[in-house]
Amino acid sequence: MDKGTNSYDYIVVGAGFAGAVAARELAEKGNKRILIIDSRDHVGGNCYDAPDEDGILIHKYGPHIFHTDIERVYTFLSRFTDWYDYSHEVVARVGDELIPVPFNLNTLDMVFKDRAPALERLLKDKFGEGARVPILKLRQADDPGLKEIADYVYNNIFLKYTLKQWGKKPEEIDEGVSGRVPVVVSRDNRYFRDKYQGMPAEGYTALFEKMLDHENITVKLSTEADSVIRLSDMGDGSVEQASGSAPDGQKDQRVIYARPDQTDEWERYFGRVIFTGAIDELFDCCYGRLPYRSLRFDFSHYDEEHFQSHGVVNYTVSEDFTRITEFKYLTGQTDTDGTTIVREYPFSYTGADGEIPYYAINNTENDEMYDKYKRLADKYGLILIGRLAEYRYYNIDAIVDRALDVVSKIL
Ligand code: FAD
Ligand code: UDP
Repeated sequence: MDKGTNSYDYIVVGAGFAGAVAARELAEKGNKRILIIDSRDHVGGNCYDAPDEDGILIHKYGPHIFHTDIERVYTFLSRFTDWYDYSHEVVARVGDELIPVPFNLNTLDMVFKDRAPALERLLKDKFGEGARVPILKLRQADDPGLKEIADYVYNNIFLKYTLKQWGKKPEEIDEGVSGRVPVVVSRDNRYFRDKYQGMPAEGYTALFEKMLDHENITVKLSTEADSVIRLSDMGDGSVEQASGSAPDGQKDQRVIYARPDQTDEWERYFGRVIFTGAIDELFDCCYGRLPYRSLRFDFSHYDEEHFQSHGVVNYTVSEDFTRITEFKYLTGQTDTDGTTIVREYPFSYTGADGEIPYYAINNTENDEMYDKYKRLADKYGLILIGRLAEYRYYNIDAIVDRALDVVSKIL
């Protein structure tokens, strides 16, 4: 195939789920020619996994458990992998005890002992059997018994963990965040209740390699976006011009240049660009840096069968780290004797070299800054997909669904 600039119908920046799913669909259903690049030396984005030096399959960017209720997402991904059947259960270390999270009726029994049956009735009467009640909502209850449960859950499960994770109290962040782990009025200890839960049998990286293995797709790793695409107003210090001073008549004239083979020649690019990276960085942070939380992952290996009793133990009242994950539980790996764990230490992302933005901090101010970048991106006809490009939290299934949706609209 001719590798000239315009021989690619699409340039996709980022080979995580957003980019890889879009690339595959466009290549297969639209018969489009795709160049997909990633600045990292591997595919998979934050879901990348690989054996560590002791042979344990680890997730370099934090533990990822697949779960979905979306039929088409499960069907699509199942083309590229079999599944290891894993239902995720999490416990929180509170004092000497390990209690099930989300807080549920089993947790209620452990914590409130012989008072639990009466409190269980209160929960069922107020919210109904099987209800999922966000902690911030439970805290508004008037009943003294419900208040007592809310105080316990708030103080022992949410407060310290959220302070570590976000640097703020639960009520100071988007209420949807703590709402992801509601109080559950049932005896289901599973962390997720989706119909499909599991791990790619050969790992995420193998899944990505299969997904990107298509004659219309060219993958280039260790390749920064700015070495392949360039925006018309940028590159000569005139980013401010790009930030909104162009007269109306010129607004639609923003163009993209590309050099897919990273030669010296920049040519006007007539294809489309799907961008899944950090949108503020694409525009040299001309409106300011979008705030994120980041994480430091601290891996340790032990010559023992197991380090802990569950795949994930949350440290909700003690320690500086939020949780410890032991990968063998998640992946079902049995061919090694030792075990590898990871501790997660959250911190505020500054944009320094080597730091990775993980969690968008959604609030009115930050979302408004994002909207400015979005409007700028629209002027170039950039297609934005992904947790960085859209500045919002996506689970794997949600981002796969979104990428499928975007492509079906394009085609
Ligand atoms: P990413 O996976 O981040 O991919 C973006 C890619 O773009 C990266 O590879 C990056 O290198 C590349 N890129 C960015 N900028 C540029 C550039 N300028 N030039 C070239 N390349 C660039 N979801 C679940 O469903 N289950 C879980 O258990 C789960 N656990 C999580 C745990 C953690 C710690 C975190 C942070 C997230 C978790 N998620 C989980 C969410 C999951 O990680 C995301 O849904 C998914 O990674 C989003 O994919 P993406 O393609 O948008 O982003
Ligand atoms: N959370 C908490 N204690 C827990 C689990 C979760 O305080 O034991 C809060 C915390 O604010 C966290 C949010 O609930 O950021 C969402 O939890 P989830 O497990 O979904 O976080 P993620 O998978 O995004 O790290």
